[in-house]
Amino acid sequence: MPPSLTGAMNLLSVQQARERILHSIQSVGQTIIPLDQAARRVLARDIHTADDFPLFDNSAMDGFAIRSSDSSTSSVTLHVVSDIPAGTDLTRGVHQLAPGEAARIMTGAPLPGGADAVVPVEETDFNSRDPGSPAPAHVTISRLVKPGENIRRRGSDIQLGQTILTAPARLRPQDIGLLAMLGQETVPVYELPRVALLSSGDELLPVGEQLTGGRIHDSNSPMLAAQIEEAGAQVIRLGVAPDERTAVESLLERAATSDADLIISSAGVSVGAFDFIKEVVEMKGKLDFWRVNMRPGKPLAFGEYRGIPFIGLPGNPVSAFVTFEVFARSAIEKLSGLEPRPGRRITVRLAEAVESDGRESYLRAIVGEDGSAKLTGHQGSGNLLSLVDANALLIIPAGVKSRPAGQEVEAWLV
Ligand code: AMP
Ligand code: MG
Repeated sequence: MPPSLTGAMNLLSVQQARERILHSIQSVGQTIIPLDQAARRVLARDIHTADDFPLFDNSAMDGFAIRSSDSSTSSVTLHVVSDIPAGTDLTRGVHQLAPGEAARIMTGAPLPGGADAVVPVEETDFNSRDPGSPAPAHVTISRLVKPGENIRRRGSDIQLGQTILTAPARLRPQDIGLLAMLGQETVPVYELPRVALLSSGDELLPVGEQLTGGRIHDSNSPMLAAQIEEAGAQVIRLGVAPDERTAVESLLERAATSDADLIISSAGVSVGAFDFIKEVVEMKGKLDFWRVNMRPGKPLAFGEYRGIPFIGLPGNPVSAFVTFEVFARSAIEKLSGLEPRPGRRITVRLAEAVESDGRESYLRAIVGEDGSAKLTGHQGSGNLLSLVDANALLIIPAGVKSRPAGQEVEAWLV
């Protein structure tokens, strides 16, 4: 029997549960949006250029465009016949260098005909570099200049037809810059996935309402909404359903009619007498599984409601956070059109002994510069402060009950 199932009959391993969830999720549709709205969106198709870049030969320096054959190892003085700022249209006016002639030229300005090199202003006798100073009548150059010096040739960075961005990928600021450089006004992207979010529990009150006996604030909704948005999806906030069949059903119905691509709930999926979520999901959908061999987060439900994938996270705040990161984030990545990837893992050394109960455990810890890991406090799944204080979750594999100080374990940076 695989270790993940030892002492945990009917429980899926974390890996199996991830696979089952990802297997039943498809990416959302594609659309075309303006470039200025495309940051962080997921590119849906490869981008090929429709032109060269640069589009014309131009100067890489502020200086003088010359014919390199005019230069020599001794000094030569050239007649400055034109002044070419960036943005000059060379088809207007005379910008053609004859032997013995030079043009003052600025970085990015098009190279005049006849010129094949640019000498930086610092390497000439022309010292007046104040903004607005007119071009001199003559310029002296005292070294041999090679053809091509300080010239950016047409197509030297990017050639027509080249693939410059490969889909799928989340567009970063530098990608947006590149698309703008090539004049791409619109971008093919995946739609933003829509995730309906609900909490459940009679004890929950929204933040801002005065707590009365036995009540607590609904902290999962704001936390999970932030996680959903950070994962790149839109949140449809449905609020809290009290622990009644009809209340749970009415929120799930609202989720179904709100055009959601995924429904995420928290709490009400355990074995409590008022845990109705599983039952209501099964009325109009089906449950695929509802327990995973992990800690925190064993009561995790997955299925579909009216054809929409449904993830029922546990209610304890740390369990809700961790199971979102392990399962729901990847589900949102897949919906978004991305290849889902587990979070970044590193190997760390335990500064203290740790214990587990044999489930795959995610322990809140702080990993220091030296790679040593210390737990941030007691590991109760309601202790959100010990999660806030942590910068990593130590992963203790299923089947392992303790690890001594000094041992190496895998850690997942959060
Ligand atoms: P349950 O899964 O409904 O048994 O909830 C497990 C624990 O998590 C209980 O202590 C709940 O009060 C708590 N809990 C459930 N939902 C939330 C929530 N939205 N915010 C904060 N705590 C919650
Ligand atoms: Mg409850």
